[in-house]
Amino acid sequence: MLDDLYKEVILDHYKSPRNKRELAEATVSCQQNNPLCGDDITLHARLDDGRLAEVTFEGQGCSISQASASMLTESVAGKSVDEARELSDDFRSFMQGVLEPDEDEFGELIALKGVVKYPVRIKCAVLAWDVLQDALKGTGEASGASAHPS
Ligand code: ZN
Repeated sequence: MLDDLYKEVILDHYKSPRNKRELAEATVSCQQNNPLCGDDITLHARLDDGRLAEVTFEGQGCSISQASASMLTESVAGKSVDEARELSDDFRSFMQGVLEPDEDEFGELIALKGVVKYPVRIKCAVLAWDVLQDALKGTGEASGASAHPS
C-alpha cells in the first residue's frame, strides 16, 4: 500500500516536474550525468543573502532521477546554503540506508525510500544532490563575518 503511494508521488513528479526550466538570473549552474543510466541533470540556483532564493533544473533520464531533481528544487528553495548542504548529506545517508528519514525534514523525499533496496538506482536518486553540492561549492563561506579577522 505504502509502496504504491510512494510510486505515485515519484510518477507525479516525473510527469509534472516542478521548477523545470532555465533560470536566467541564476547565480550558479552545474551539470552532471549518470552514464550508467543516461540521466542528465543541470541545476540552476539564484542565491540571495546566503539563501537559495530560487532553484530550477533541466535534464532528462529515468523517472527516479527526474523525480528526485524535481523534489530537490522544492525541498531546498528558501533554505540557507548550509541547510541545503546538510539536507544533501542527510539525503545521501538516507539512500545508503544509514539514516532513518525524518518526515519533517524530508517531506515528499521519503517517497524515494524504495530506491534504497536497488543499489543500481541509488546513483539515479542521488545525481541531482551531487549536482547541488557541486553548485554550492565555494559559496556561503565568503559571507562569514570572521572571514577577515583583521
Ligand atoms: Zn536513472
